[in-house]
Amino acid sequence: MSIDKDFLPFTRPSIDERTIGEVSDVLRSGWITTGPKCQQLEAALSARFGGRPVRLLNSGTAALELALRLCNIGPGDEVITTPLSWVATANVVLAVGATPVFVDVDRSTRNIDLARVEAAITPRTRAVIPVDLAGLPVDRDRLAALASKHGLRVIEDAAQAFGSRWDGREIGSFGDLVSFSFHANKNITTSEGGCLVVNNDEEALRLERLRLQGVERLPGGELEVEAWGAKANLTDVAAAIGLGQLRQVQDFTAARRALAERYYARWDASLEFELPPRQAAPAEGNWHMFQPLLPERLAGRRSDFIAAMREQGIGVGVHYPAMHLFSLFREHGWRRGDFPIAEDIGERILTLPLFPAMQPSDVDRVCQAVGAAVCALR
Ligand SMILES: *Cc1c(COP(=O)(O)O)cnc(C)c1O
Repeated sequence: MSIDKDFLPFTRPSIDERTIGEVSDVLRSGWITTGPKCQQLEAALSARFGGRPVRLLNSGTAALELALRLCNIGPGDEVITTPLSWVATANVVLAVGATPVFVDVDRSTRNIDLARVEAAITPRTRAVIPVDLAGLPVDRDRLAALASKHGLRVIEDAAQAFGSRWDGREIGSFGDLVSFSFHANKNITTSEGGCLVVNNDEEALRLERLRLQGVERLPGGELEVEAWGAKANLTDVAAAIGLGQLRQVQDFTAARRALAERYYARWDASLEFELPPRQAAPAEGNWHMFQPLLPERLAGRRSDFIAAMREQGIGVGVHYPAMHLFSLFREHGWRRGDFPIAEDIGERILTLPLFPAMQPSDVDRVCQAVGAAVCALR
């Protein structure tokens, strides 16, 4: 697939030449799967997260699924989560045989409504999976209070929140289990990959077995397998990309923040879009995405709007339609009307271009194109 060089996608990874060189070194080294680069990346992430143990996985999805397995969550258990997320968030609950329980989101943050979480707790509830949509953190103080009051595990789906902070503390450096994705579209990438931050060495050891066939290495080189394990280890090729990304992530986040500010400054309010929530302490997001909602009068015309933007050379994404309306979840009994806020946001949400290599003038171009696209739809 070749892309017109003037086409502005909604996101694009930034991989610098030094990183490309380091990936080449790995490829030449004779050791291309899990090895020293993965160890280095785990150590660097752990240092970033205040010394908490971190283990790499081959996707954010694997990190979430293995987090559930680490908590021994399975058939008969309920896990409360948001319908306004990537489908991975609930797919992993199905994967371990547990039951996802959706609750609606808070309109102002677009994240799971913690009052509704509390109302949905039953004797079968074992865990909550909050998602920091677009990197805007869920209230970690209320979350921790709720979890400890009801004896629940928290598996943070922080796939989009690398570099975000709550009350000055980096997401990942506190809490229970915290999962990140390093997919190509995330704020830092390993092309595909992810990691899970755990609480202690015992959990880290169990996770190591869960991610690689359950294998235990005994003294003297013998092997033992006591329990099932997945095949979810990361490669050193991928970890080398991640190490390069970590060097740059502070600049990435600063660039994203400046571009988001420019969107607010340049946006034509008369178009009546709803702009994404403004960030205010204690929530400090990483601007993983910039997501306005289409005006209500254009609610049913999102695909026409996206086509009109594409004609002007601009890519627009949709993250995400409310997932309980997918056939898979309808088969589990969910239907339209169950979560009106998530449904409304899911119908009107748009992801506009925002990535570190974008120029301020690109934002201006997007803002102009939005005005023209709205005119074209009239
Ligand atoms: C990307 C993402 C995932 C899954 O991560 P992968 O690395 O693609 O498996 C899960 N949840 C959310 C909210 C995501 O954005």
